[in-house]
Formats: sequence, C-alpha cells, structure tokens
Amino acid sequence: MTGSQIRQKFLDYFAARGHTIVSSSSLVPHNDPTLLFTNAGMNQFKDCFLGAEKRSYVRAVSSQKCVRAGGKHNDLENVGRTARHHTFFEMLGNFSFGDYFKPEAIAFAWEFLTGELQLDTDRLYVTVYTDDDEAADIWHKQEGVPKERIFRFGEKDNFWSMGDTGPCGPCSEIFWDNGPGTGCGSPDCAVGCDCDRYMEIWNNVFMQFDRQPDGTLVPLPKPAVDTGMGLERITTVMQGVTSNYDTDLLRDVIRNIEQLSGKRYGDREDDDVSMRVLADHSRATAYLIADGVLPSNEGRGYVLRRIMRRAMRHAKMLGFEDPILYRTAVFVLEFMAEAYPEEAERRDFVARVVQNEEHRFIQTLGNGLRILQDEVAKLKADGRSRIPGETVFKLYDTYGFPVDLTADIVEKDGFSLDEEGFESCMEQQRAKAREHWKGSGEEAISAVYKQLVDAGIRSRFSGYQTLEDQGDVL
Ligand code: ATP
Ligand code: MG
Ligand code: MG
Ligand code: MG
Repeated sequence: MTGSQIRQKFLDYFAARGHTIVSSSSLVPHNDPTLLFTNAGMNQFKDCFLGAEKRSYVRAVSSQKCVRAGGKHNDLENVGRTARHHTFFEMLGNFSFGDYFKPEAIAFAWEFLTGELQLDTDRLYVTVYTDDDEAADIWHKQEGVPKERIFRFGEKDNFWSMGDTGPCGPCSEIFWDNGPGTGCGSPDCAVGCDCDRYMEIWNNVFMQFDRQPDGTLVPLPKPAVDTGMGLERITTVMQGVTSNYDTDLLRDVIRNIEQLSGKRYGDREDDDVSMRVLADHSRATAYLIADGVLPSNEGRGYVLRRIMRRAMRHAKMLGFEDPILYRTAVFVLEFMAEAYPEEAERRDFVARVVQNEEHRFIQTLGNGLRILQDEVAKLKADGRSRIPGETVFKLYDTYGFPVDLTADIVEKDGFSLDEEGFESCMEQQRAKAREHWKGSGEEAISAVYKQLVDAGIRSRFSGYQTLEDQGDVL
C-alpha cells in the first residue's frame, strides 16, 4: 500500500463511520496567535473543542500538514538523526466534538490498525495515563489487549492540555515494535525509550476536564476526542521498513536527490544524513512557502530561513555548488500534487522564492564555512573545543549563519558554542543601535513618514508574521 493509499484508507474508514472529511488547514494557523505553525490536526478545531464554535458535524477526520520546528514542539534537531522525526509531516486524525468518547475511540483505533491494516498485534503496545483505569479496562476487556502490553505513563507523556487552564485530559498512545536490531540496542530498551525501536504511531487524547486557574479539574459536560497518527510512521509500518525515509513518501524525494547529485543513498552515512535532511527540509520549505511564509529575519520567516539554510549547507556537503533546493522543493510539490493540488499550483512562486534565497546565501555560506573551519583548526591546535561568542556572532551578523546552523556544523567535531558570549555581542549591537537611534533625529523620520502618507503609501499590519512564540528563534 502506498502512503497515499493509506491516507485515503484512513479518511474513508472514518467517513464510513459518520466523520466529515475536512481538508488540511494552512501551516500558518489563522485563529491562534500563540502558535508558530500548525503542529497537529486539532489546531483548526480548537474552537470546536472549546465550545466557542459550532459546526454542522460532531465527528471529523483529516490529514493535516504539520510543521514542528521552532516553538514548543521543535523536532528540527532530530531530523536526519532519528528515523521517525520530520520538520514537515502529515498527521491523520479523527475527532469527536462532544460526541463519542473512550470506548468508541479506542475501538476505532484498534479496528483500523488490526482490522483494516491487518497489523500484527504481537508488535503493538499501548499506553494509558497513570490513573486512567477506564482506558486500561477498555483496552483489556473490550479489545482483548493483554495486560502486559498495556503500559502506564505519567503527566509528561500521557496527559495533554491546551494551556495552563482549559480543556485537558489523559492520552492513550499506540506503539509499534520495529524489531530487534533497530533502536538503541540497550537491554533496558522498552516502550517509552526515546529511540527508534518502539515507535509511537498514534496518540488518542481524551479531553475530559476543564482545568481551573487554581488547578482543579472540573469534568467537561461533553468530553471530546482528538487523535493524531503520523502518516509517514504508519506507512513505515505498512511497508515493512524501519525508517520513514524508506517509505515511498520520502524515498522518491531522496531518489530525486540521488539523481541530481549522482550519489547513492546507503553508500556513506554522512551523505545519507545530508540526503535525509535535504529531503525533509525540501518538504518543509515547499509547503511553508506555498502557505505564504517567506524567509525573513523574524518570527515564522526566520524559522523557515533556518530550515532553508540548513538544507543549503547539507546540499553543499553533497557536492552541490549551485542552487538546488528550489528544484527539490518543486519536486515535492509535484510529487504530492494529488493530495495537495492547490499547493502544487504555486510551484513557480515557490521556486522563485527559494532560488532567490539560495542566491543570497550560497556565496556567504562558502565564505562563512571557511572562517569556521579555520577557527576550528586553530582551537583544536590549542586543545580547546568551544567556539568563541564573537565568532558565532560574526557568522550570524555578517554571514547570515543562524546560530543553530553553526552549532550543527561544529557538533561533529565535538565543539560547542559560547552562547553567553554570543548573547553579549548581540546585546552590544542592540545597545549600539539604540545609541545611533538617539542621534538620528526623529523629526526627520516623521517628515519621511508624512511624505509617504501623503504619497498614499500605508504600512501593513504584519503582526501575524512576526509576533508569535518565537521559541528559540533569535
Ligand atoms: P514523539 O514522542 O515520537 O516525538 P509526540 O508524542 O511528540 O511524538 P504527538 O504530539 O503525540 O507526537 O503527535 C501525534 C503523532 O504524530 C505521533 O504519535 C506521531 O505518529 C506523529 N508525529 C509527531 N511528531 C512527529 C514528527 N516530528 N515527525 C513525524 N511524525 C510525528
Ligand atoms: Mg515529539
Ligand atoms: Mg511521544
Ligand atoms: Mg505523543
């Protein structure tokens, strides 16, 4: 079964059980200024869960484009290193807005996996929240899952909340055993281990309480269900592979990179990492730009820029000297056109934006890398392993190297960054800018504004682009 067929099967399965198929919303959340990017299927339904919005349906199903880079859910550092994390991925989800609850949700999930997809129950495990006996009982008594395959985890993994107050509740997750020989190999490796062996495939959230400002949990009159399953992960399971990058969803993107670079995936570990990063980041770049995010120096645009520059650096490591990301990004849009036709129509725009950014950065990337290499060599000779803050700052300020890019480059040599030193350089620069400002004569500026206004030029509100949760964005 292809990834596309699995996506369709999921939608069809839930549609046949009274769920309305809702298309993916944009990666730029339209109704939530606290969120950097759409990072789960439930985002577009937030107000339905809160009861603030009523729709014509109480059951929904979707396949949602998600990005987890920057902000609270940041998987950027994981990409290329784990077999299961992406910056851009698709989340399949079924939702109940005060309609069905735990027994039905668990029955649907189990039937879909073991009935529709025919997964081997000996390789599946489930988890419930510490004191959620109700869910544990449903798994065991209703679905016949043996007790030893049901794990109980605490707040961190198995309790979900929208914020400090408001809807929240226990979760129940489903894991797939990729088998011996995968993951960390530790004798203690078990469900819950943060490696690739026991792979979380599906999270079922039971919104059951309304948390009050004093912390008490008041039961919701109409509890709700929110679920999320990574399409790439379930495709890994279905295609009998152990890495998302070996599924047809990602393999063709890598194949395209193989063709362009003349290198073969699987030949050299370093190249493989670069190919995975480039494949993943091409997807994120393509869909973020198609959804209207542009590379810039702040907010969402800066997260995109960091993703793109990281992709460019890995492209360079693969031997590309000329712009290539615009081609790999367009390939993604065309390859996934059936599922996302509107985005595919924006391919020319995406290509232009990416190529422009590549032209801006390629030259300085080479120059910056040389500076960094010299610095690393010098420090190594001195027996040191920390890049001074001034160097990190110079690379950032003059060469456009996002700090995490610099960290990523030197990590392999066992180097870390003097982040405090970097911060103080930043502070000095800010202070200088303020100093400058004082003497620059605000009246003159007002006059310029007046001229612009007189000429009919207005400023545009850009809060949605720049305001939100900037996470670790500098
Ligand atoms: P993990 O613990 O593996 O990082 P998570 O608990 O952060 O996953 P959830 O927030 O529960 O993930 O999201 C629901 C589902 O979305 C997960 O069970 C998984 O299948 C998928 N998923 C989450 N993050 C990613 C990612 N970065 N790349 C691909 N799929 C993901
Ligand atoms: Mg995670
Ligand atoms: Mg998890
Ligand atoms: Mg989870």
